Formats: sequence, structure tokens, C-alpha cells
Amino acid sequence: MPMEKYRQIFENNRKWVESKREHDEGYFERLSRGQSPSFLYIGCADSRVPANEIMGHEPGEVFVHRNIANVVCNTDLNVHSVIEYAVNHLEVDHIVVVGHHGCGGGRAAVKSPDLGIMNGWLREIRDVYRLHKEDLRSIEDEEARYRRLVELNVQEQCIRVIKTASVQKAYLKRGLPKVHGWVFDLAD
Ligand code: ZN
Repeated sequence: MPMEKYRQIFENNRKWVESKREHDEGYFERLSRGQSPSFLYIGCADSRVPANEIMGHEPGEVFVHRNIANVVCNTDLNVHSVIEYAVNHLEVDHIVVVGHHGCGGGRAAVKSPDLGIMNGWLREIRDVYRLHKEDLRSIEDEEARYRRLVELNVQEQCIRVIKTASVQKAYLKRGLPKVHGWVFDLAD
């Protein structure tokens, strides 16, 4: 059963290639020539929030970075390399930081169980909680508090993107990129 699911992917891919070619003969030839996306998407790794699909964009239109709870950690070489490349080489016009309600990362950060190697990562969200603890503690309903934390986390990660040297230099030079914070609700 697990191997059937795995093999199905290749069958899906063949069908996808066929259907793309059917509608547009030169699709893959164009795609292979390069990319010039206008958007950098920094989102959660959650399987229910696929970047291109929720934005209604085709391959080649969105540069994507995803990790647990859409964190822009200041010491993360990965996310900062992505931002650097997107801003200075691809010259994207917009950077969107995308969180989602029902985020397991946010929930785990608040519950603070020992999650081994993930503790350091979740500390980033715990810091967001600490920064806004008065606001968050005033919310009695637990679900509403989680929802607020997801929003505050997006806000904090946007600030971190804005504080990045390459983003500031590019903005002074060409008035772009603009940084946006989004929160998706999986229920609707
Ligand atoms: Zn998530």
C-alpha cells in the first residue's frame, strides 16, 4: 500500500505533463529557460498550505521557502540565502509571509512540551508569545489565543524580513520589495 501511493506520484506526473502539453505545446520549453517570479513566499511547511495553489499561480511565478511555522530566524542561513537570492538576483516585487490558523508549530510552542531538536526552533515562536504575553493572556478562549498568536507570529516575521540588510538596501534603491503578512484559515 505505501509503495502504491509512491508509484502513483509518477503516474500523476505523467498525466500532468500530458495535460500541460495538450493545452500549451511550448510550456516546458519556456519553463526550462529560467524563472522571473514576482513573489517570494515564506510559509509554513504544513501540507495543507501549498504556496502556488493557494495563490492561483503556475510554476515559475512564486519563489518559495517553507519551514515549521513560517519563521524567519536571524541565524538561519537557509531562509536568509533565499531572501538574498530573491531580492538581489530575482528582484521580486513582493515578499509574503504566510501563516495559517490551526498551525501545529504555534500550538506546540505554547504547550511547551520537550520536542528534542525542535525546541530551539519553537523558541522563536515562544519569543513571539513572550513579546506579546499581555495581549495574549488577556484572551480567555484558548482557540482565540492560538489564532492571535498565529497573526502576531506573521507580524513579527515580517518585521524580521524588513530588518534584513538586503531588503532594506533594495527598498532604498527601487522602492521594492514590499513585505506583506497573510494568515490563511484552513476552514474557508
Ligand atoms: Zn503551520
